[in-house]
Order: sequence, then C-alpha cells, then structure tokens
Amino acid sequence: MPARVYFDHAATTPLDPRVAAAMEPFLREEYGNASSLHEAGRKAREAVEQARAQVAALLNADPAEIVFTASGTEADNMALVGVADANGFAGVHLVTSAIEHPAILETAGYLARRGVAVTKLPVNFDGLVDPSALKAALRPETRLVSIMAANNVIGTIQLVPELARVAREHGTLFHTDAVQAAGKVPLNVKDTPIDLLSMSAHKLHGPKGVGALFVRKGVTIEPLVHGGGQERGLRSATENVAGIVGFGRAAELARVDMAAENARLVALRERILETVTRTVPGAYLIGHPARRLPGHLCLGLAGLEGEAIKLLLALDEAGIAVSSGSACSAHHAGQPSQILLALGFDPVRARGSLRVTLGRFNTDEEVDRFLEILPRAVASLRPMTTRLAAAKL
Ligand code: PLP
Repeated sequence: MPARVYFDHAATTPLDPRVAAAMEPFLREEYGNASSLHEAGRKAREAVEQARAQVAALLNADPAEIVFTASGTEADNMALVGVADANGFAGVHLVTSAIEHPAILETAGYLARRGVAVTKLPVNFDGLVDPSALKAALRPETRLVSIMAANNVIGTIQLVPELARVAREHGTLFHTDAVQAAGKVPLNVKDTPIDLLSMSAHKLHGPKGVGALFVRKGVTIEPLVHGGGQERGLRSATENVAGIVGFGRAAELARVDMAAENARLVALRERILETVTRTVPGAYLIGHPARRLPGHLCLGLAGLEGEAIKLLLALDEAGIAVSSGSACSAHHAGQPSQILLALGFDPVRARGSLRVTLGRFNTDEEVDRFLEILPRAVASLRPMTTRLAAAKL
C-alpha cells in the first residue's frame, strides 16, 4: 500500500520536523512559566520573545506589535470584538465581505446582536472585493474594515494594499484575516496600512492551537481574555511556550523558503490544473486564475454536483486526502457552499467542488498519483449521475 497523499493543507498542515525539534525541549525539561523570575522562567521568556521576533519578521512588523493567541479564530474575534468594544459596541459600523471565514462572519453576527451595524460587501466571480465598493460603503461611524488576505475555499488573494488604503484614507482601522496567506505570500505591514492582522501556526507547518494578532503600535483594542496581564494585558493566560516556540520556528522557515517554495508549488498546482481540465470532462477552475495562493486549487466538476462527497470518499479510499469546497468542514457536508453562492454560482453548481491544497512535503510523484486516480474516480461516479438524470426525465 503506497503512503497516503495529503492534499488538504488549507485545513491544516503537518508539523515540520524542524518545528517539532524546536518545540521538544519546551515540552520536557524547559517547563518554566514565562512570567517567573527564576532561571526556568527566564529561559521560557527568552524563547517566547525570540518567537515573537520570528513571527514579526514574517510581516516586517515590530516584535512588540505581535500578540500571541490560542488560534486564528481567537485572533479574529479579538480584532473585531476588541475594536467594537473599544468604541462602545452600539452605533459602531463594521464592514466585511461575504466570503470571510466563519471566525469573522459569526463574530460579525454576534456583534450585530450587540448593536453593531454590519455591511457585508459582495465579491465578483473571481472572489475579489472591489475597492471602490468598499469606499462607497464607508460611513462616518465605520470603525473597522475586515477583509481576508486570501480565501480558504477558493484561494483568491484579495487586493489588500488597495483596500487598506481606502480604509486608512477614511480614518478607519483595517483588519485582515491572513490565516491562509501568512507564510505563503509576502505581507509587509510597513508598506501597507494594515492595523490588525490574524495568523495561525497550524496553517504553516506549525502546531495547532497557537495564533497571533498583529496590533499596530497606537491602535487601541479591548482584550477578550482578562486575567494576569500577559501579552501586554491584551491576552491574559500563561503562555503556551512550546506552541509559541513552534510558531516562531515555522514562521522563520516559511519566510526563508518562501520564494523558492512558492515557485515549486505553483508549478505543481498548474500541472494539476492543466491535466485535470484536459482529462476530466466538465472540470474547471473556481476563483481567480492568477491571484491565488501558490498551492491552492478549487475545482468545479460540472455534472458531479451531487457527488462531491462521494468523490472525496472514493479518493480517500484510494489514499488521497482532499476537501470538498462546500464541506471543508464535515458539519456542512452536502450543502451548497456559501462562498460559491457569494461568487454567483447557482445552488446546484455550488454543491460540486473539490479543494486541492498542496504543501511543503508534497512531491511530483504524489501529483502523478493524484492525476492518475482522479479521472478514474470521477468516471466511476459519472454513470450514476447520468442514470439519475435519466430517471428524472
Ligand atoms: N480564518 C481562515 C481564513 C481560516 O482558513 C481559518 C482556518 O481554517 C481560520 C480563520 C481559523 O483558524 P484556527 O483554525 O487557527 O482557529
């Protein structure tokens, strides 16, 4: 039985062994609390601060602008709730987009119940928010704009510099959920007027359960978690030292290798796209053709809309892990993807897509195997759809 092929890096990534090696001492002998004054505590503090500098370097931020959190979801909540709370909730206006991750959309829903007015900007067929639509949506009471850097389902990279500039010119804070983008595409907070930015270690070959929020110097937010005052009072709790150290090392590896790794992933991605659209009838690309994450493909499969989950399971049986665009979360299996509906897909088409996301350890041979297995898996499901269509006539 050949080794399993993992093509679901947008869901999570395997821990890089170099990251695991950096974390290991902090899971064993270096168990100090980073707030303790003795030697064990000082060693933990030093490690946390080194990681803070490594994560900051990925964004060209100052280390003091990085706040560690327990996830990307928490960083997103902290940004949105933190700004709304700092402005008294009721009467605040928040602008976001229709294709954000639930960590943003559900938080916006919570804020709406607390009296915040929420505008969700539409996207075009490629998944892009139009900066002039953002400009038109801004009001005197708009306190925050939150637009993701790259989408987790379709892989489209937003026009963040342009959108951030529109917000800055209006005097409004700009947050970007960069959980999918960080470590994969260059992000530079010195060049771009981003005020708040969310990240998550497990999407860049780091550990699960650790994230960060970049908070630009001078930006005021209320904390979500209150307690002992760690992380400059913005995120109380004893630091997850091993997790933070892993995040730091993962950020450093991603930064150093980014250009070469991106070129390698784009080549693998384009080979998959070219071959699949040639060998699988009805296959087409969803999302922006050029502005997309290097290893990210979202494929539509015309005629197989009802069978996306069956295809995913058939591939899983053949040892290949991918995701269905509509069901990156198993909780929503079989339902039309809200993201694809927002792109303008009809509800039938919005049920049939396959998300293939590549990462650091994927090889040419694994791509070969996928390209051999996919057309057969699709063909095995086609007769069923054809029979069903005939029965309906
Ligand atoms: N934002 C985006 C765009 C994501 O893709 C994810 C995870 O899938 C999150 C936020 C949540 O991050 P975490 O899993 O660290 O909570």
